[in-house]
Formats: sequence, C-alpha cells, structure tokens
Amino acid sequence: MGKKTVRFNCTHCGHCCTDVICLPTPWDVMRIVRMTGAEPYKFLKFVLSDEIGEVEDSDPTWLECQGERYLMAVRRGKKGCFFLDKKSRHCSIYEARPILCRLYPFKLNETRKGEFKSFTLHADVGCPKHTDGTVETAPLYELYLDDSRHQKDYEDLVRVFNSRRPKKRKPKDFIKLFHDPR
Ligand code: SF4
Ligand code: SF4
Repeated sequence: MGKKTVRFNCTHCGHCCTDVICLPTPWDVMRIVRMTGAEPYKFLKFVLSDEIGEVEDSDPTWLECQGERYLMAVRRGKKGCFFLDKKSRHCSIYEARPILCRLYPFKLNETRKGEFKSFTLHADVGCPKHTDGTVETAPLYELYLDDSRHQKDYEDLVRVFNSRRPKKRKPKDFIKLFHDPR
C-alpha cells in the first residue's frame, strides 16, 4: 500500500522554472497545444547533449541527427522557462504544465516487486525541499504511472525518428511525428 503522504512544502522559490531544463513528452506537448493554443515550434527547443549534463547517454529519448544528439525541451531564456510569467513569476500554463513539472522534486521508491512504496525528495536537486507541509502520494503516483505510459510512446516515436535516415534530418522534424498543425 505504501506511504500515503510525503512531507513537502513548495515555497514557490522559482528554481525549477528558471534553472532546470524542462523535458516534456510528446503527450505533454499535445496537452499544452490543446489547452493553450501555444505553437510547439515556438516553445520547444532541441538541446544538445553538452547543454544538459544530467541525462544519461543510455536514455532512449535522444534524437540523433547528423552526428549530434538532442533532447526535446521547453525553450528557456535568461529569465527562465518560456512559460514563466515575467511579472508574476508563476507558470502561465499551470493547468497544462508537463508531468515532470508536477512531479518535481519527488522521487518514487518501489518495492522489489515494482509496487509503490513511497515518495521522498530527490537528494540532488536545487529545490530548497522544505518539509513543513504534507502532500498526498496517491495523485503523485497516478501522475507517475501516466508519465510511464507516455514515456513508452515517446521512446517508440524516437525509435521511428532515429531509424529514418534522410540526409538533412533536423531535430525539429521530430515534432511532425506527433503534431499536425493543420
Ligand atoms: S512549464 Fe511551467 S511549471 Fe514547468 S518549468 Fe515552465 S514555467 Fe515552470
Ligand atoms: S524548486 Fe521546489 S520550492 Fe522552488 S518552486 Fe520548485 S518545487 Fe517549489
């Protein structure tokens, strides 16, 4: 059954929206487009492997293009995420935000059988991790399961993309595999 709560209080310090590269799945992108009308060619950026150190080489979502490897990310400027409201410093697409944003800074712990055990706070992230609040774990676990299913679809799309070998394939061509602007 696992632990029902995790001690955490988000103080809205803004770290995760300014200093962390946000990596959406294609499902996240489609939800953002559907709920906000935002244009993926404007809010997505494809980051090179040397721009993002914390993702393992073996991660199955690397896009391979002409000898380089890229990850699909939400564009960031000097003041943070594309969707961070410059005045209020709040997420301007809060209801549609990517699942990873919703799960930060929680870390899932499972039993040996792969059953839910608990959520704790990631040790190696910049979140101040205040523990003077209580968060229910059941909705977090639902999000995690949702993200796992989407991750699998994402990997399948990346496999299709990487198996095609047109001479001038560009990372942004990946968007065409799941988003039809018509
Ligand atoms: S999408 Fe919203 S919650 Fe996620 S990093 Fe950007 S501003 Fe923050
Ligand atoms: S880094 Fe932690 S405390 Fe700061 S906004 Fe993100 S989740 Fe909240």
